[in-house]
Amino acid sequence: MSGGLDSQLAVRVLQEAGAEVEGVCFETPFFSSAAARRAAAALGVKLHVIDFTEDECRLIENPPHGFGGAMNPCIDCHATMIRRAGELMVSLGYDFVATGEVLNQRPMSQNRQSLGVVAKTSGLEGRLVRPLCAQLLEPTIPEQEGKLDRSKLLGLSGRRREPQFELAKKYGVVDYPSPAGGCKLTEKGFGHRLKDLLDHEGLGNRRLVELLLIARRFRFPDGTGVILGRDASENATLKECENLGTLIYPVNCPGPTALVPSVSSSEALAKVAALVAAWSKHDQLQTAIVTNVGEVPPPYDRAPFLPYQIL
Ligand code: SF4
Repeated sequence: MSGGLDSQLAVRVLQEAGAEVEGVCFETPFFSSAAARRAAAALGVKLHVIDFTEDECRLIENPPHGFGGAMNPCIDCHATMIRRAGELMVSLGYDFVATGEVLNQRPMSQNRQSLGVVAKTSGLEGRLVRPLCAQLLEPTIPEQEGKLDRSKLLGLSGRRREPQFELAKKYGVVDYPSPAGGCKLTEKGFGHRLKDLLDHEGLGNRRLVELLLIARRFRFPDGTGVILGRDASENATLKECENLGTLIYPVNCPGPTALVPSVSSSEALAKVAALVAAWSKHDQLQTAIVTNVGEVPPPYDRAPFLPYQIL
């Protein structure tokens, strides 16, 4: 349950078809549970929020079915979420797992083949119900067993949203985010940052993964990565991450804090100092660029950082 319109409609359709429903939301640094929490409260259903960060990072490192348009391993992500929901289904004594998917709504991840792959890969084939398009799919076990009234399930298909808007009116669903939004992994710009982290420091450190959501990023040709705060709040966040690497920041003048997970040499450190100085209200005579292990001596030359890649 993402909290989007389709997942909320799926709850209402299932309830009309005779099912008792609880929601499950999979939370990661890339996908917030805020909309799901609001939706569950509005619908009056219990919500289970599961931390999915470890699963998602392992899938990004090795997505058996590849990525979508950015760094989004949607098919494997869906399948893994449904497998985990299936584990919850068993432990809570429920009969099936449902999603708000609509056949052919998304060309890659919601076509007939992808829906079948997800059902098979998740291990929940026969117990995975898509109430918004169930009439267009094979009957599932709960439908065959009469636990779910198939005639009350829908046959939506395609990218038109008007049928969902009509259903929203019918069910009084008014608070829902836009269908495309929500998951940072589908954003190409964010994908560049994530790929850079994956290729250099890796995704093993959760805090470094979370820091992808803030700050400017630089990658020097020698592989040194720099996370540079953009405002006081980000600088304060970076200063709390002292255990992740070297902190570099100016004293005696306003300026950003840089976190460098791994400093390869004193030359690299001087370049980061130059970068910090360039973003500071910098007076060569009065400013000192320091690190949590000591001062970097001036001059803080602006020239060396110009060709570095900005992510
Ligand atoms: S959009 Fe994001 S959360 Fe949703 S399936 Fe794709 S990768 Fe997973």
